[in-house]
Amino acid sequence: MANTEGIERFIDEAKVDAVLAAGQDRSAAHVREVLAKAREMRGLDDADVSVLMGISDPELLGELFDAARFVKDTIYGRRLVLFAPLYVSNLCGNDCVYCAFRVRNREVTRRALTQDEVANEVRVLVEQGHKRVLLVAGESYPSEGFNYVLKCVETIYQVKVGRGEIRRVNVNVAPLDVDQFKALKATGIGTYQLFQETYHRGTYGRVHLAGKKRDFDWRVTAMDRAMQAGIDDVGIGVLFGLWDWRWEVLALLQHIRHLEARFGVGPHTVSVPRMEPAIGSDVASHPPKPVSDIDFRKLVAILRLAVPYTGIIMSTRETANLRRETFALGVSQISAGSRTNPGGYEEEDAKKEFEAAQFQVGDHRPLDEVVRDVASMGYIPSFCTGCYRLGRTGADFMDLAKPGDIKQHCDPNGLSTFMEYLLDYASPETRSVGDALVDRVLGDMEGKPGATARKLVEAVCAGKRDVYV
Ligand code: SAM
Ligand code: SF4
Repeated sequence: MANTEGIERFIDEAKVDAVLAAGQDRSAAHVREVLAKAREMRGLDDADVSVLMGISDPELLGELFDAARFVKDTIYGRRLVLFAPLYVSNLCGNDCVYCAFRVRNREVTRRALTQDEVANEVRVLVEQGHKRVLLVAGESYPSEGFNYVLKCVETIYQVKVGRGEIRRVNVNVAPLDVDQFKALKATGIGTYQLFQETYHRGTYGRVHLAGKKRDFDWRVTAMDRAMQAGIDDVGIGVLFGLWDWRWEVLALLQHIRHLEARFGVGPHTVSVPRMEPAIGSDVASHPPKPVSDIDFRKLVAILRLAVPYTGIIMSTRETANLRRETFALGVSQISAGSRTNPGGYEEEDAKKEFEAAQFQVGDHRPLDEVVRDVASMGYIPSFCTGCYRLGRTGADFMDLAKPGDIKQHCDPNGLSTFMEYLLDYASPETRSVGDALVDRVLGDMEGKPGATARKLVEAVCAGKRDVYV
């Protein structure tokens, strides 16, 4: 086994199997009991989760979704945080059977952006109005090795265009050792994100055929090393479609509990990517364990109830329609206007995108259109980076979130950053939808959060930028 630094195997497969095999009471009365408990917003145990996973009756399914909506609204309010992925390199030494960047795929055009090219990509994103990016790379770096990633983060933070800049860089790169995580933290990253892909060891071995990523233990213990290195905002996830989604959700919850028990804080976010077609991968077009749209909605709702204080991220892998539906069920962050090929923002070349992209995206709309859509549904598109800038990360963020106080800060910050977007970047149509939403939300906000929000929005309208509480 690789260097797991004495950490026991915290994914207990036998336990997951036992929970799934146990004859749960799935009567309507018991499902309703579990849903009532979920509405108390203290999370759910494995047996509860298993009961909810078994729901098939449309009426009970509707009640599950209602409970998820209630928890989402109560804790997160009407904000949806927006970000863009920034693919800096598709060089990769691994052979993950589902990914176009896999080393054996000859159909993909390989490219690692130079720092100038990274800066050009960032300029395009800033000009669109983005404030948060997720840096993504394959697991093989140009000659400078891992320093390449550190340089990319520095480059991203240095770019200023007009009144805009990227204020938070999150990173999704292969697992690091503790010293590398420390170096990454020193560049000022927000969240370190890494998906286990599958928590099922046997399946993991079958879909990772070569390279460092074959080592399940090195990957599953990455967040332990990140936290040891002082990165307290981490994001985990499963690539749905490789193994039974029910099994994966229960194992993911074990991972969360392990981090909570060891570090006093769980992950900041959970991502729920579903496998998408990718060139050079038959598996990606025909996932071994596909997750249907209805099960996908169910799993988002169940995660919302099981871990109410962990953000849920929905990427542009999903179609606009499905994304819309899941906003209400618990999603708190979405990507928008994404390209998954290095250089894809500056070049806007469909052929190049096809030849160098990691997978096909399901939602192709530009940021402005997504913002308008989100706003017309009554959600506040937020570009806020306040918590991270004020050091409210890890356990400090959870302390803020747990009593439901998240809204006190996040709604005002969400509104002020949305106002910045409307003034500096929005199209006339989006501006008019957005102005109406801001007026309506400000009118509805009472007490201290209302007063704070009005003050922040007025400051932005008076010309200030980057104001937050
Ligand atoms: N190379 C690093 C790694 O594998 O962790 C980080 C970047 S990798 C490009 C980011 C994520 O993309 C992977 O963790 C995987 O879950 C996801 N991914 C790969 N192929 C995919 C596909 N065909 N559809 C959807 N997501 C995919
Ligand atoms: Fe490489 Fe990551 Fe794709 Fe695997 S998922 S082939 S490690 S980029």
